Amino acid sequence: MNKDQGKRGWVKDCFTRRIFRVMICIVVLCFSIGYFWSTSNHTWQHTPVKTFSTMSPNTQDPDDFHNINLPTNRTYLLENLLEIELPRMIYAKPQVLKPPRNDVLMMTPWFAPIVWEGTYNLEILNEQFKQRNVTVGLIIFAIKKYVVFLKNLLETAETYFMVGYKVNYYIFTDRPQEVPKVELKEGRNVVVLQIQNYSRWQEIVLRRMEMIHNFSQKQFINEVDYLVSVDIDMRFNDQVGVEILSDLFGTLHPGFYGSERQSFTYERRPASQAYVPHDEGDFYYAAAFFGGTVKEVYKLTKKCHEAIMVDKDNGIEAIWQEESHLNKYFIYHKPTKILSPEYVWDDNMGKPQILRKRRFLAVPKNHAAIRNK
Ligand code: UDP
Repeated sequence: MNKDQGKRGWVKDCFTRRIFRVMICIVVLCFSIGYFWSTSNHTWQHTPVKTFSTMSPNTQDPDDFHNINLPTNRTYLLENLLEIELPRMIYAKPQVLKPPRNDVLMMTPWFAPIVWEGTYNLEILNEQFKQRNVTVGLIIFAIKKYVVFLKNLLETAETYFMVGYKVNYYIFTDRPQEVPKVELKEGRNVVVLQIQNYSRWQEIVLRRMEMIHNFSQKQFINEVDYLVSVDIDMRFNDQVGVEILSDLFGTLHPGFYGSERQSFTYERRPASQAYVPHDEGDFYYAAAFFGGTVKEVYKLTKKCHEAIMVDKDNGIEAIWQEESHLNKYFIYHKPTKILSPEYVWDDNMGKPQILRKRRFLAVPKNHAAIRNK
């Protein structure tokens, strides 16, 4: 082999090697693109499923996603759906022509049930909610001297509230060292959330909306399915279970359940964001007990807090503080379930026959001794 031939052979060899290398690169590139495509598709398809398998069963409803900008092809929402299948159960058949109660309204005109004792079968509801493995957050504000009510509320909640379910007691307080130690059943926790106090009691009650809104976003959404907000100067006196749970629920105020619209103590001054005209309103709701999914409570508290801040800028405070804003909200965002006054009662109002249970009762309090202290 002469020098020239050797050089040509070497050049040819180099050329072949280069082609070989380019081909390998193309193959590797093709594989990479294919792999990237399949993994990105995989992530895109499955992230939402993962999200709602760990969240509230309500969010398993594809309709729940309608207000979120998701791709139009939502087939993936149908994968991994939780199936709730009841076991064989023996119970009295519902009678179409014999309603279980005829002394009270059991359904609103927008088809939200009103929860009265005798109108539902808790066994069926428990079967459904147990399979959904729900966790409930009970929100309690214990600011300044109100912390003295906490022990009784927590102890009675352990006896009557969501028995057999996972519960987080979220205690908002400025006095964490005064939160009492209460013996808790399995799956139930006290979570102390330290917050500032305000000098006026009105400001404290108004700020509840802001606090619930903030913590829904940064904590509750990751920890519980439903939130229930209650006043602290109360005690559980009978079972309060999953019959209350729904997307958004409010409670008929014990002082107004039989009243006409005109007597409701809505905010009547047009200057306030909580203003309700005399010809509007369904019920008067108590701020002492409301709740829903974290998502719905977040929306409610956000809207009420914003309205409260507008009022503040305009130098006006609604007549019944956050309760006025809550009542306004419920007129334009109808609750999906309504709790009868069994769920907020005050024995000073007697024991009317329609109340077969008094589940959550006001504890007598001396306003002068407790407020602003
Ligand atoms: N609250 C509080 N500290 C206060 C005032 C109010 O923790 O200084 C909380 C507490 O949870 C209470 C709720 O806000 O149950 C509503 O206030 P209050 O019971 O005084 O209002 P009412 O129902 O008597 O109008």
